[in-house]
This record gives sequence, C-alpha cells and structure tokens, in this order.
Amino acid sequence: FQQRRCSARRAAFLVESLQDLDRGLRARGARLHIASGDPAEVLPTLWSRLGIQYLSFDADETGEPYARRRDARVLTAAREAGVRAEPHATETLWSLEAYEAKCGGMGNAPGTMTAYQSLLGRMGKVLAPVDAPVAADYPSPGVQGELVGAAEMLVPSSPLALPWPRETARAEVESVWGPAEVAALSSRVVPALRGGESAALERLEAKIQAPGREAWVAAYDKPKTAPTALTPSTTALSPYLSLGCVSPRDMWHAVDAAAAAAPKSAARSKPPVSLHGQLMWRDFNNLVARAANDSVPGSWGQMEGNRFCRQVAWGEDKAALAAWAEGRTGYPWIDACMTQLRAEGWIHHLGRHAVACFLTRGDLWQHWEAGAAHFEAQLLDADYALNGFNWLWLSCSGFFYQYFRCYSPVAFQKKKDPSGAYIRKYLPQLARLPDKYIYEPWKAPPAVQKAAGVIIGQDYPEPIVDHAVVSKANMSKMADAYAKHKALNGGGSGAPAKKKQKR
Ligand SMILES: Cc1cc2nc3c(=O)[nH]c(=O)nc-3n(C[C@H](O)[C@H](O)[C@H](O)COP(=O)(O)OP(=O)(O)OC[C@H]3O[C@@H](n4cnc5c(N)ncnc54)[C@H](O)[C@@H]3O)c2cc1C
Repeated sequence: FQQRRCSARRAAFLVESLQDLDRGLRARGARLHIASGDPAEVLPTLWSRLGIQYLSFDADETGEPYARRRDARVLTAAREAGVRAEPHATETLWSLEAYEAKCGGMGNAPGTMTAYQSLLGRMGKVLAPVDAPVAADYPSPGVQGELVGAAEMLVPSSPLALPWPRETARAEVESVWGPAEVAALSSRVVPALRGGESAALERLEAKIQAPGREAWVAAYDKPKTAPTALTPSTTALSPYLSLGCVSPRDMWHAVDAAAAAAPKSAARSKPPVSLHGQLMWRDFNNLVARAANDSVPGSWGQMEGNRFCRQVAWGEDKAALAAWAEGRTGYPWIDACMTQLRAEGWIHHLGRHAVACFLTRGDLWQHWEAGAAHFEAQLLDADYALNGFNWLWLSCSGFFYQYFRCYSPVAFQKKKDPSGAYIRKYLPQLARLPDKYIYEPWKAPPAVQKAAGVIIGQDYPEPIVDHAVVSKANMSKMADAYAKHKALNGGGSGAPAKKKQKR
C-alpha cells in the first residue's frame, strides 16, 4: 500500500528512517539487513541460509487486503519451514485484537469517537513502551559478519535505490519521479521533516518533554492551534508515528508526564481536543478501518462497499483535480496549502480540512477517493486508516454529516492571519499584494496588480469557481444524496446531527 503512490519526498523520508535505524543498530554492534522481493519466497531462502528459527514481525491489523495475503503466506511458509513466527501489534495504543476482545467482536466496534472513548476507558492504563534493545541483545559482530557479507543487503543509499513495489509496474503508478526530483530534494530548498527515530525523539523532546513545555502540553486544544503558522503549531510527530519511528505509547506517556508536571495554574484540555485525544482519534480510525475490511474486504479507503461511507454521485473533472493538486485554483489559501503539501509533505490539520472540503462537497465536487490518493502520495504521514477516515469526514461521506457547514476558502483563515503571511511564504508571486487583497487577489484593481507585479489571469489564476454559487449548489446535491441514503436505509440515519463535534 505505502509505496504504490509515493512522492520523492516521502520515499526520501523512508530511506532516511532506514538509514537512521541502521546507524542505531551499528551503534549496538549489529546492522540492518534489507531483503527485497516477495516475502513468502525470499524469507524461506534466508531462513535456511542463515539458520533462522524465529521470526517476529509487525502485525498489520487494519486488514488491508495485500497485507492480509502477505502475512498469511509468510505464516504458512514459516509453519512449513518449522520457524516459530510471532506477529506483534505495535501501531496503536492497544492492539486492535485487544479492542476487539473488549467490545465482543469487530461487529460491535465503536462508530463514534464518544463510543470509542468509552471503550478506551474500559481498557485500563495504556501500557508503557518496552525498552530499546542494547548491544548484549545481538550476536557478536563476528558471528553476523560470517553469515552475511559486509556489502550484502545494505540499506538503500537514496530513494532511487528503493525496490519498486512488486504488484505494480512502475509506469502504472502515479507521481513517477526520477533523479531530477531526488536531486532537488537533496538541495534542501525547503525545511523538511527528516526521517528516522533520532529525529522523532528530538521532536518529541522539543515539543513535549523539554522543560517549559508542560503548560502547552496540558492545555493543548487542537482546534485552537494555528494552521497558518510558519512552522508547525502542532507536534508534527505524525510522519514518525505513521512510519513507526516513535511509538504512540511513547508519546502517550510523554504527554502524561508533561501534563502532570504542569503548574496548577495551567489550563487543562480534555479528549478529543487534547494531545491524548489526538492519539485516541488515531486508534479509533484504525479500529473503523479494520471493522470496514472485516465486513467487506478491501472496502476501507473507497466508497464502494464501505459500510461507513455514504454513496454520493461525485463528478469527474481531471482539469479541476489537477488545478487543486497543483495549487492553481485561484484561491490563495487553498493554493498555499497545496504548495506546502507538495514542497514539504505536511500541512496543518485545518489546512487539510480546508483543501479536502474544497475538493469535494465545498467547491469542486470531485470524488474524495481522488483527493485521498493525492494525499497518500504526498503526505510524509500518509496512513491507510487516518487518511481514509478523514476524507470520509471532510467530504461528509461518513462520521460527520453537517454538509450545510462549509469552509469558505477566503474567510476561514482571514481572521487568523489577516496579513496573509502564510500565503506570502508559499505563493511568492503574491507576496507584494496589499493585505486587503491577499485572500482575494482577483478583486485587486489593475493598477494594484501591476504595482504588486502580479497580473491575475496571467501570473496567478482567476478563481476556478465562484465559491458562493457552487457551495450552495453542492449543498443541495448533498441533500439529495442524503435523502437517497435515508430512503434506502429506511429512516432516521439520513438526518444531519445537530451538535458540532470538535476535533
Ligand atoms: C483530509 C485529511 C487527511 C488526513 N490524512 C492523514 C494521514 O494520512 N496521516 C496522518 O497521520 N494524519 C492524517 N490526517 C489527520 C491529521 O491532520 C494529522 O494527523 C495531523 O495534522 C498531524 O499533525 P501533528 O502530528 O502535528 O498532530 P498532533 O495534533 O500533534 O497530534 C498527534 C498525533 O495524533 C494523531 N492525530 C492527530 N489528529 C488526528 C486526526 N484528526 N485523526 C487521526 N489521528 C490524528 C496523529 O498521529 C498525530 O501525529 C488527515 C486529516 C485530514 C483532514
């Protein structure tokens, strides 16, 4: 899944993470060995060549079909070879199996955050992470050296050296990139998040554990963090959590410790908006992804067959989709977010809200699956469960149903960043526009455009749609889709909920 569509930046983050893991192992007298190919074929040859009798691996619990097939084949191969194999669930605070046992089967998995919070409350204290291994846990370097040559099974030196996914031809995947894109990355023209456990632990320290952070951690209120901050106003730990560079349990306990040490006068936030709340969203998303796949295999991440997703007749307009993806909609706040995504592989949660709403039910009426695929390619934190969940939410296809609430691509951020510093950073062609026009450059008189060195329609696009008009039309299309859903499901579930849920 992860490598099917993947930007050069995300591939570089993976390579940096592998290199960092290798350095960590070498510091303990071992090293990382990388084998590539079909695991069910490659692993048995390694087991017999190296005399391996025990296999421990990271369980993929969300039920993504390829992962399920792969794990089943590897387990069969291990049984046949007499190798003891143990999957370990490490991605979430509690294994999905543990949640399943507590709620009496995936059929009873919580469908709302409130129900999930109540389930978590019954699970007991989140376990502490296990200690990292030390040098004595590994065979001596001499023994390792005899088994595998020093130049064999090395970590890829660059994204170009990553093995290509087995089931898909290179020409068939989106975002195909090559040496030029990789060279552009190494010039580091933009500040990027560096991959690896070391960088993850530095960030955990800087954002949560460092002296002076206690009150910030205790008071963390996600909807109040600034999406237009020029450096992340949230932890930006997501790429590390997504790739396993840091465990959610590490973060959970770091948050616990910092909040406990906060001064009595500090404000105290609660889930779902607190930092613990953010980690809860993460587990909840994993649970529903698994529940969807258990009921219809492969249905998570798509509209068809997905028990959590309403059926909506989305449009298909390749030009509109490309304008959105490339930051050419003519709405500077949207285009700045999409530019940050392409350049840095990360945007603030509310920026993601804005662009996802704009692409789907807000303005362009394009399928959320297309938006999710683009995010998957570009985000350093691309995550099967979280991405799928959030696109359902933002497109009002599942979990959130207030389609009559729509983000304005102009007014939403104007209040928080009236001079448009964020837009000026990511869209330098607009940098010299007066504050008054930075969110709506098409309203600037020709003389102002000329003085600012940007002619709208020439140096920067006209708005792709009239938000006031299309958002209204889209609301009635959503109303139709909801009415159909209600008719099909015979009753109340078509009605939008009245209460606004904060996240
Ligand atoms: C359309 C859309 C797509 C998204 N796709 C992804 C994705 O592919 N991968 C991803 O990690 N996040 C995704 N998110 C969720 C969220 O935006 C990011 O997790 C968050 O912005 C990461 O920043 P942070 O680490 O600073 O978050 P913090 O606020 O510091 O939160 C800490 C951690 O909690 C988890 N978390 C935070 N918010 C959410 C949320 N709303 N749902 C689930 N878990 C959450 C993340 O692991 C995050 O790193 C998406 C959101 C939207 C609206």
